[in-house]
Amino acid sequence: MVESATSTQASSTSASLDTTRFMARDLCAYLESYLEPDQVSEVYRAYLFGAEAHEGQTRLSGDPYIVHPLAVAKTMAEMRMDHRSIIAAILHDVMEDTHISKERIIEEFGEDVAELVDGVSKLTHLKFRSKAEAQAENFRKMMLAITRDLRVIMVKLADRLHNMRTLGVMRPDKGRRIARETLEIYAPIAQRLGMNAIRRELEVLGFASHNPLRYKVLQDAVKKSRGHRKEVMQKIETAICSRMEEAGIVSRIIGREKNLYSIYRKMRQKRLSFEEVFDVFAIRIVVTDVDACYRALGVVHNLYKPVPGRFKDYIAIPKANGYQSLHTVLFGPHGIPIEVQIRTEEMDRVAESGIAAHWLYKAGDRQSASAQARAREWLKGVLEIQQAAGNSMEFLENVKVDLFPEEVYIFTPRGEIMELPKGATAVDFAYAVHSDVGNTCVAAKIDRRLAPLSTKLESGRTVEVITAPGARPNPAWLNFVVTGKARTAIRHYLKNLQQGEAVNLGRRLLDKALIGLGKSLEEIPPQEMQRLLEDLQLPNLDALLGDVGLGNRMATLVARRLSSDDVGDDVAAPSPASLGKPLAVKGTEGMVLSFAKCCHPIPGDPIVGVMSAGRGLVVHREPCRNVAEYRNKPDKWIPVAWSEDSTQEYAAAIRAQTANKRGVLANLASVIADMGSNIENVSFDERDGHASTITFTLSVRSRKHLADLMRRLRRVPEVLRISRARG
Ligand code: MN
Repeated sequence: MVESATSTQASSTSASLDTTRFMARDLCAYLESYLEPDQVSEVYRAYLFGAEAHEGQTRLSGDPYIVHPLAVAKTMAEMRMDHRSIIAAILHDVMEDTHISKERIIEEFGEDVAELVDGVSKLTHLKFRSKAEAQAENFRKMMLAITRDLRVIMVKLADRLHNMRTLGVMRPDKGRRIARETLEIYAPIAQRLGMNAIRRELEVLGFASHNPLRYKVLQDAVKKSRGHRKEVMQKIETAICSRMEEAGIVSRIIGREKNLYSIYRKMRQKRLSFEEVFDVFAIRIVVTDVDACYRALGVVHNLYKPVPGRFKDYIAIPKANGYQSLHTVLFGPHGIPIEVQIRTEEMDRVAESGIAAHWLYKAGDRQSASAQARAREWLKGVLEIQQAAGNSMEFLENVKVDLFPEEVYIFTPRGEIMELPKGATAVDFAYAVHSDVGNTCVAAKIDRRLAPLSTKLESGRTVEVITAPGARPNPAWLNFVVTGKARTAIRHYLKNLQQGEAVNLGRRLLDKALIGLGKSLEEIPPQEMQRLLEDLQLPNLDALLGDVGLGNRMATLVARRLSSDDVGDDVAAPSPASLGKPLAVKGTEGMVLSFAKCCHPIPGDPIVGVMSAGRGLVVHREPCRNVAEYRNKPDKWIPVAWSEDSTQEYAAAIRAQTANKRGVLANLASVIADMGSNIENVSFDERDGHASTITFTLSVRSRKHLADLMRRLRRVPEVLRISRARG
């Protein structure tokens, strides 16, 4: 799409109508060689449909737009792809550039074709924005991760190929950018899928546009040395050909010339001169069966002496991507080295079109397996070859990762690509950016839309994290983060936070206990404190206060040991009343102070605190049944009172008995919302046909707020009774 700016000149259409119809007929004639007649007519119908959709649109070259999709389809046909891929190729730009919807394509050509077209459109939206070379690999992985069906990638490669073939009409700077992208992204993907014919052409076209000067120099050099070569080449070919005939081997002999890009790359990588790279003759011999391969090898070794150590048997031991051939190097006439590849037609097809060669492998049961299943089958085949051969797993690992990725690839707002494990959430992403970003994140934007922090990320999305200065990690994040980095950072932060809060609370508790004994923390002589710390084997005062704050050590016992000269004497335990003013509760104490879920205390309620080991102070309403047993345990029972300046919201539970009428719950909910309260939880209990009990957990600011709320709820006609739930 990027490459195919459209305009709407309707002038040249009648003249080129014949051209496009000719192209379509040519395509169909080609398809008849390997597809069923009804499949071919389906393709023709797709052409008519596409031509109508693109009617009036032209390419930059002035051609009617449909010329482009037809060319893409032809490339797919040359790879002998199935008829649905061909149809998808013809329609690959209709969703992008015309009014045609996915639903319409489903109606006309079925789900499979529509998914393919949709997949190509998705890839078209993906923009490679980074300048960093290292990012190209990630972008390639992202493309493959987004694609569920490999045929989508093939259409995209064929699309890019035609755009590169027609790049000449493009503005030079734009053309250069597209050429670079072709070299960095598309050619390597083609290579990874073993599609060498396409890869080579993409490379040469990309090189020509990206590096026109160097291309020209090399092209001239090749032209110069070709004249002499042609003669030698002819001689060698003729010699081999007649020897093959003598031996009764049916063969095709192809003289090969290295392409300009691979010459360029070899010169650069191996620091060789042009002559060193170019002055090698290369010949491919294609025969009918494996047996003939080895016999042909004998023939050429008999004709020219082989270079020792250069023979390789990739038929017995195929390359990891399934490539098979015999390779040898011969001393040709005048000692010119000749590289020879010998293989069967089938091997040749695999070597040229890679994964595409496996597509229509079993023509009989096309319907039986999905494309992905076929890709798996191909992989399995490769795997078996690998195991038999015991050679490098590298290729397979790459392909496997690409087809069934364990990772997602995400854009940062600056266009960089980040790799995260599958299932990673916005919080994982935030911590991957920086632990400070993770610690202060409050929300995320995915493709510019607000999304919850727990949202699982998908490849190709742009994710932005919103942070707030005072924000802190939420313990609940630990339930959904998947990366070790996020988990460790959250735990670390919470532990520090809790320790700090515990020290604070511990200081207040210990001071209060000491005041009850007529002393205060400041009055304790340092050596006294040191002695106690040594006794308890604690490193410092903070450790002691932290223990007290978390409820692991009782403040009253510590106070007693600090306040008397004789440790462990029989000073009577102070009664709660003697402890002076109760501890003030603000609600902002953090994780070492919590409000009991059984009775839900709110400001204004009489309350009491109970120390609980490891959890710190738990605040209950005084009449709560669950605290009765602590009433006579002064070291756990802590008198507390609400601080004046509490501005927090608290959870409160109310129970409503209502008549069973439609819409009761909605009525109550709207009253609650009106009163500025949130419903945190609701449970429903139908008592009989006529009445129900609904229990709400609500957020309120104070007893007054709750009382007002209950008064309003009582006025709802269906409400029979309303009461605050007790612990
Ligand atoms: Mn296109």
